[in-house]
Amino acid sequence: MKELTHYINGEHVKGTSGRFADVYNPAIGEVTAKTPLASAAEIDLAVQAAEAAQPAWAAVNPQRRARVLMKMVDLLHRDMDKLAEALSSEHGKTLPDAKGDVIRGLEVVEYCIGAPELLKGEYTDGAGPGIDMYSMRQPLGVTAGITPFNFPAMIPMWMFAPAIAAGNAFILKPSERDPSVPLMLAELFEEAGLPKGILQVVNGDKEAVDAIIAHETIQSIGFVGSTPIAEYIYGNGCAAGKRVQCFGGAKNHAIIMPDADMDNVVDALIGAGYGAAGERCMAISVAVPVGQETADRLIEALIPRVESLKVGPYTAGDDVDLGPVITAEAKARINALVDSGVEQGAKLVVDGRGFKLQGYENGFFVGPSLFDNVTTDMEIYKQEIFGPVLSTVRTDTYEEAIGHVMDHQYGNGTAIFTRDGDTARDFASRINVGMVGINVPIPVPLAYHTFGGWKKSAFGDLNQHGPDAFKFYTRTKTVTSRWPSGAKEGAEFSIPTMK
Ligand code: NAD
Repeated sequence: MKELTHYINGEHVKGTSGRFADVYNPAIGEVTAKTPLASAAEIDLAVQAAEAAQPAWAAVNPQRRARVLMKMVDLLHRDMDKLAEALSSEHGKTLPDAKGDVIRGLEVVEYCIGAPELLKGEYTDGAGPGIDMYSMRQPLGVTAGITPFNFPAMIPMWMFAPAIAAGNAFILKPSERDPSVPLMLAELFEEAGLPKGILQVVNGDKEAVDAIIAHETIQSIGFVGSTPIAEYIYGNGCAAGKRVQCFGGAKNHAIIMPDADMDNVVDALIGAGYGAAGERCMAISVAVPVGQETADRLIEALIPRVESLKVGPYTAGDDVDLGPVITAEAKARINALVDSGVEQGAKLVVDGRGFKLQGYENGFFVGPSLFDNVTTDMEIYKQEIFGPVLSTVRTDTYEEAIGHVMDHQYGNGTAIFTRDGDTARDFASRINVGMVGINVPIPVPLAYHTFGGWKKSAFGDLNQHGPDAFKFYTRTKTVTSRWPSGAKEGAEFSIPTMK
C-alpha cells in the first residue's frame, strides 16, 4: 500500500511517529494509502526549517515574490487534470467539481500576485517640523494553517497564497482524509521557484494541531473545519498568544418568496443542496418557502428533480451529479440524522436511505433526501448534516422566515429568491449572516472580496482572502522619523501632541 509522506524543507519525508491514518477511495470504500500522523517533534522539524528560510524570503522584494505566484498559476493550469483526479479519488467529488476546487484556490493565488500593491504602506510627509511618519506591513514570520477535507486544494491555497506573498513561511496541516493534493501543491510551488522551507506540509491529527498551538515560533494559525474544533483552536491559540482566525460549520437557509421564479429556484436548490453530496460549508441545507402555496409548488417541483439525481463514482464522468460522502462514519451519521427527522415528525418526501449502486456496494454513497414540514426543534434543523439532505421549513410570512435565519446558531451563508427589490434590500441589510445571495444560491465571494461567516461560523476579526488576508498575515509597524535641521530642541517629558 502507498505510504504518503510529509513535505519538509523541500523533501518528501517519511513519518517517524509510528502513527498512521487510512486514506480511502470513498467510491469503492477501500483504503488506498496511509498517511503519517506527525508528532510534536516532526512539527518542530518543519518549524526549524521555516524559521531558517523565512528571513531571506521576506527580504525578496514583493514583485519578485509575486512572480513566483505567477508561475504557480501556470503550473496549476498545467497540472489541472492530475490534481483533479487525485482530489476526486480521495474526496469522491466529481471531476468538474474537483477542478472547481483547484480553480477557486488558483483565483486567490492570482489575486495575491497583487501583493506589491496590497502591501504598500502609508506615508505622511511633514507630520511635524522635519517629521515624517510611515506605516509598513511586515510578515509575521512562521505561520500555520489547519484545513478540512471538503476543499483539499482551495482552502490550503486561500491560506498559503497570501501568507507566502506577504513574505511569511507557512506550515500546512491538511485533513488526514485527503492529503495527496496538498502535498502536490507544495511540490508545484517549489517548481515555480519558491525556496525550500517556505511552504511545508505536515500531515497529522489532533497531536499535530496541539503541537502547532504550543509551538512558540509559530505566530499565527488559520483554521477551517467544524465549529467545535474551531472553538478549541481559537481559544487555545489565542491563549498561547497567537493571531488566530477559525472558520466553522454552517446551516445555510434559502428564503423563497411567493414572487420568485420557481424554475430558477429549483435549479439553484438542486445544485446548492446536493452538489458535492452536500459537503460544502456554503451548501443550502434549508429551504424556507414563504406561504403555503409557494411551499406546495416548491415541493412539487423539487421531488422529480431530486429523484432523478445521478449518484455515482467520479470515474463515470458526466453521468454523475454527486459522488459518495467522505467516510463510512459520515454515511452512517447522515442516515441516522435522516432517521431522526422521520422519528421527530418531518415528512420525508424523497428517501435516500438504503441507496445502493451496483458494483460499488462498499462505496460511501448516500442517496439524496428531501424533507418537508421540518420544524426548528428537530435535530435535522439544528445540526449541520453535511450530506445530500435538504430540509424544508414552511413559513407564513417573510418576517417569520427571516427570523429563522436570524435565530440559527450558524451564520455562514444565506440566500433569498425574489423579484422584489425592496425585499431583497431589506434582507441584505438586516440579516445576521456573513455572505448573502440575492437570487444566487451559493454566494461565495470572489478572491478580491473576503470570505467569512458570522455567529458560530467564524471566530476572529478578519476574513479569508481579499484585503483581509494581507492584514491577517502581516503586522503594522509605524515609524516616526525626524531629521533635525537648524535649532535643536531639549528633551521633552510630556507626550508629544500637535501644537
Ligand atoms: P474537522 O473539524 O473534523 O477537521 C478539520 C481539521 O481539524 C482537520 O485538519 C483535522 O485533522 C483537524 N481536527 C479534527 N479533529 C481535531 C481535534 N479534536 N483537535 C484538533 N484538530 C482536529 O472538519 P472536516 O470534517 O474536515 O470538515 C467539515 C467541516 O468544515 C464542516 O463543519 C464544514 O462546514 C466546515 N467548513 C467550513 C468552512 C468555512 O469557511 N466556514 C469551509 C469548509 C468547511
